[in-house]
Amino acid sequence: MKISEIDKQYVANTYARFPVEIVSGKGSYLYSSDGKEYIDMGSGIGVTAFGIADDEWISAVTAQLGRVQHTSNLYYTEPCARLAELLCNRTGMKKVFFGNSGAEANECAIKVARKYAADKKGKEYNVIITLQNSFHGRTLATLSATGQDKFHELFNPLVPGFVHTPANDLEALKKAVKNNKACAVMIECVQGEGGVNCLDKDFVLGVQEVCRQNDLILIVDEVQTGNGRTGKLYSYMNFGITPDVVTTAKGLGGGLPIGCCLMNEKTESVLGFGDHGSTFGGNPVCAAGAISVLERLTDEFLAEVDKKSKYVFDELKGVKGVESISGAGLMIGIKTTRPVKEVLSECIENGVLCLTAKDKLRLLPALNIPVEALKKAVSVIKEAVKN
Ligand SMILES: *Cc1c(COP(=O)(O)O)cnc(C)c1O
Repeated sequence: MKISEIDKQYVANTYARFPVEIVSGKGSYLYSSDGKEYIDMGSGIGVTAFGIADDEWISAVTAQLGRVQHTSNLYYTEPCARLAELLCNRTGMKKVFFGNSGAEANECAIKVARKYAADKKGKEYNVIITLQNSFHGRTLATLSATGQDKFHELFNPLVPGFVHTPANDLEALKKAVKNNKACAVMIECVQGEGGVNCLDKDFVLGVQEVCRQNDLILIVDEVQTGNGRTGKLYSYMNFGITPDVVTTAKGLGGGLPIGCCLMNEKTESVLGFGDHGSTFGGNPVCAAGAISVLERLTDEFLAEVDKKSKYVFDELKGVKGVESISGAGLMIGIKTTRPVKEVLSECIENGVLCLTAKDKLRLLPALNIPVEALKKAVSVIKEAVKN
């Protein structure tokens, strides 16, 4: 039996896979079982920040793998402590909780916000305001936080205490704060799954102000936007705000599962012994991979990300078949005249793997994608959007 047939027979039917079996790769190039070469414009879904089988990342990960691959959280390990130190030094946040995914990072943030308010104002202050069209994960609480009805319908009853207001509508948000016993507001500065939509600067600054005035926890979900993706280390840094809680995952581990919830001086002491935990959280191999990713996200490197971003925007703006282009850094959404599914298929046909978000083509290439690969991919995309 072919791998695709075995997969179809035994793996749960939750993914509509493309007819491509990936067997290996290097950097921004992937190779399929039929020997075809692809340029990787998705990097997983913004996960392999330095591409496939990156040498520096491999040596960091394998060195730790040969020392100790796991201990329980009853003991100290160096990669976990060093990664937390690095994250705090680079963001000004004070403490980190480690989990294994974006959803878990957000679960932690939700618990922090609710406990903060319960300790300070009372248990009834448990409502978290999130935005319509947001995406915060697939666990029941993060699904409830997600502001898209299509994810909700089949899984009622949802976790109570989430209210969704329209993005970039500060008045609606203020009204929701007034009408609910709120404890937090959670936003993505660029909505990823929702269609690569950037929030307005005025709105983001306004959200921070509303949070300050009402003693609400400002949570920024940086699961997709974080770790250099938008050209800043974290996307909130584009707006000059200081969140109380930041969550991140995807690109952090360079391909290994890790998620984290960063807390500032206001929230660092909310969780105490036994309030939260994770068997795999802070895994030393994943942490070693994350250290190698973070240490390379220097200002000089991020300036290169911006340059590549500008190249893609300049190349695709005004091109026939491109209605609009949105995003920041190497997180780019392209609204095409042609149905996006057709564009995607044609790109695959011509050796370029892209993603979609809603009705847009979505690009999340490795942050270190070689200029030559980027040029080639953009020319294939330009051709595909035309037809
Ligand atoms: C992907 C994503 C999540 C969920 O992350 P998982 O690792 O799949 O649990 C949460 N928030 C945002 C913004 C995401 O893009």
